[in-house]
Amino acid sequence: MNHPMLISSNAELASVIADASSADVLCIDCEFHGEKSYYPLLCLVQLAWDEHVVALDARKLDLSPLASVLSAPEVRKVLHDGRQDLALLARATGATAIQNYTDTRVAAGFVGFGSSVGLAKLARDLCAVTLEKSLQNSDWTRRLSDAQLAYALDDVRYLARIDAALRERLAARGRLSWCESVCESVVRRALKPADPEAAFRKLGGLGRLSDSQLGVLRAVAAWRERAAASLDKPVGFIASELALKQLCYERPRTREALANIRGLGAGRAAPWDQRLLEAIVDGEASPVLDRPADRSEPEGVVDGLVNLLSLARRVVAAREGVANELLGDRSALEALAEWHVAGQPADVVPELLDGWREALIGDVLRAVLDATLVVAADATQPTGLTLRSTVSDGERPDTTARRATTGVSC
Ligand SMILES: [Zn+2]
Repeated sequence: MNHPMLISSNAELASVIADASSADVLCIDCEFHGEKSYYPLLCLVQLAWDEHVVALDARKLDLSPLASVLSAPEVRKVLHDGRQDLALLARATGATAIQNYTDTRVAAGFVGFGSSVGLAKLARDLCAVTLEKSLQNSDWTRRLSDAQLAYALDDVRYLARIDAALRERLAARGRLSWCESVCESVVRRALKPADPEAAFRKLGGLGRLSDSQLGVLRAVAAWRERAAASLDKPVGFIASELALKQLCYERPRTREALANIRGLGAGRAAPWDQRLLEAIVDGEASPVLDRPADRSEPEGVVDGLVNLLSLARRVVAAREGVANELLGDRSALEALAEWHVAGQPADVVPELLDGWREALIGDVLRAVLDATLVVAADATQPTGLTLRSTVSDGERPDTTARRATTGVSC
């Protein structure tokens, strides 16, 4: 069945979905604007399957019928760096699950392309195609030019070929299941509802605040998220980060006092004004007891261990041709370091010592923490680093350190 290149009626969309639902692989990309609203404005959803390539005019369509394809386990969804797209698609379609997902950025990271490879490089290296990227940040809210439509369709046109080439390499190295496991976690994170009460943890300079000031910050940062979401405005439109900190120090009690806080934006209009005053009082009464680790004060034990572990991770990443981040991100390294500082409790299994990561990197990191393996300078190595065992051959308690120094098979 033939479809118009630009789909702008719900009847056309129904026929697209009926057709795409029987495909093995559905490639997807989204164009959106994120700067003027809390929820990015979805403008275009491009789809490619079998020999079809279409763009859905997201602002003219009811996209909810797309949810069934997104959640269908028999149709594999392929996106490049879909972290934001997945959240947008779930919101626009009402999908509560996205099953059978492959992210070509993740797949590429497992076969030697590094952690942040772009679509254009993959198209060039794997399909010998040059993608025009100059329209990447063009205005998608206006009537589309032919050039814009062609650009947008190219973003999905080669995705199936790129995916097939990457899968072949993954399969040859026995890494398909690793890639699937990371892609599942990408979906989980993208679909996880935002927690306004946790928003303050992303702000900087938390180490300088007392427990009760942090309590106020948690409350006013949550207030800002809720106001921004409700008004669909960027958080900075409601209050700057500076204003949130100032609210912690000054703890204004009246609307007049709020007027003196620098950086409080238009979101102050009632009823949000009153809710802000209430949030300040509530926040004072509930101090933050689990203080977040403050990245601006990097001299603690955990931070020292994380730095050491990340060097060991770099050696393993280079040796295995796997992107650093895929072996374990900073929060995974922190969790491992905290577990070690807590005396390696047996009832807790850090992510890096579990599943496929354990043999690939977990054993090495555990040996580094136990100081049976050290990171040493070696200018002959691509990373300038090497891992060296501190245990002589005769006294090795098990194979962990030997495996770590002689290379992990995969
Ligand atoms: Zn795109």
